[in-house]
Amino acid sequence: MEKRELTCICCPRGCMITVVTDGKNIGEVNGYTCRKGKEYAEKEVISPVRTVTSTVRILGGERPLTSVKTKTGIPKDRILACMQQINGIVAEAPVRIGDVLLEDVAGTGVPIVATKAVRPL
Ligand code: SF4
Repeated sequence: MEKRELTCICCPRGCMITVVTDGKNIGEVNGYTCRKGKEYAEKEVISPVRTVTSTVRILGGERPLTSVKTKTGIPKDRILACMQQINGIVAEAPVRIGDVLLEDVAGTGVPIVATKAVRPL
């Protein structure tokens, strides 16, 4: 078993949490102040995920780009493939906040959604 030390990123308090793990199973968890932090630490050790943010090219819009993000977190080991797919997206204006610009990024089942509206020219 290995002891991992993490800083909880779920709120500004930033509790230091230690997790004992063999890489597949969770042992003792210490240092968290609330249930959310414990859940974060366990997930971070066993299957870490991240929300990816980027930009996508827009044709015929008032601006050439919109900001986008993965709708939920995706596995950390899929981030590079996710970025490569996002780089290939070209959408047409208008774009509304929440529009799905790609249904399933990098085989994760997670959509890419717009986070900034772009009106047509
Ligand atoms: S464990 Fe709870 S209180 Fe501590 S940083 Fe995480 S969310 Fe905040």
